[in-house]
Amino acid sequence: MRDFALHRPGSLSAATAAFAGTDGEAAYLAGGHTLIPAMKSRLRMPDALVDLTGLGLSGISRDGDRLWIGATTLHADVATGATAIPGLACLAAGIGDAQVRNRGTLGGSIANNDPAADYPAAALALAAVIETDRGSFGADDFFQGMFTTALAESEIITRVGFAIPQQSSYAKFRHPASRYAMVGVYVARHAAQGSNTWRVAVTGAGTGVFRWTDAEAALNAGSDTAGLVLAADDLNSDIHASAEYRAHLCGVMMKQALATLA
Ligand SMILES: Cc1cc2nc3c(=O)[nH]c(=O)nc-3n(C[C@H](O)[C@H](O)[C@H](O)COP(=O)(O)OP(=O)(O)OC[C@H]3O[C@@H](n4cnc5c(N)ncnc54)[C@H](O)[C@@H]3O)c2cc1C
Repeated sequence: MRDFALHRPGSLSAATAAFAGTDGEAAYLAGGHTLIPAMKSRLRMPDALVDLTGLGLSGISRDGDRLWIGATTLHADVATGATAIPGLACLAAGIGDAQVRNRGTLGGSIANNDPAADYPAAALALAAVIETDRGSFGADDFFQGMFTTALAESEIITRVGFAIPQQSSYAKFRHPASRYAMVGVYVARHAAQGSNTWRVAVTGAGTGVFRWTDAEAALNAGSDTAGLVLAADDLNSDIHASAEYRAHLCGVMMKQALATLA
């Protein structure tokens, strides 16, 4: 790892000022569980890190039909504190291992948008609102493919508001070493808005998180989903699994998620 400056601002404006004032590349630091390994392997070589953990952006609160979770809230705290959405709490409890869950943050995961990360699936299925220091995004517009989001360069996620569903559940086929999703499927049944009550989101299978609209249509119509097959054409093939295997896992994980709706 090469030398870098470390800033520990106490306010959002000080954080963006430190970012903007860096001569060279700056990066925000939250839990560091993606950024630090990337720096160790020199995939990232920022000249300055701006620590976001002193900005008071942690905590969980309910406001009407939304559960708001601060950007620097640890996965471990979501696992115990997101009681209004048991499916989300279970998802957080299944991220990585205890060390990852006690350092990694919701905002870091959402900002990083790893194509195999768990939270992006919950954000899409739970119609999340991603608030930043400059405005807000609906989840459908926020995730834009592998490691790409709608965030501007120095924009900071401050909190994420998840719509509280009537029922939801997440099932993932985890990679045995990293515990990232080979395939993860989040299903949520929301209070009726016309005939569109179901949202189904898939992570790990493609180049980014996406909604499985055929599954949503089948569930909204009350049809049997047992025979639903996701086309393998746009899914990932790598050393871990072929696109066809991932397509098969999508059906299996959706079936598991539906069987464990909480
Ligand atoms: C061994 C291991 C296993 C893991 N297993 C899983 C798993 O099973 N499932 C899973 O989903 N993840 C997994 N992860 C990733 C983990 O959840 C990370 O914590 C997460 O991806 C990044 O969060 P962080 O707080 O560590 O962010 P950091 O590493 O600090 O930052 C990641 C990126 O997001 C940016 N950033 C951070 N916070 C903000 C913000 N508020 N606003 C704007 N930009 C921001 C940073 O600048 C950086 O580019 C694993 C990681 C490790 C090391």
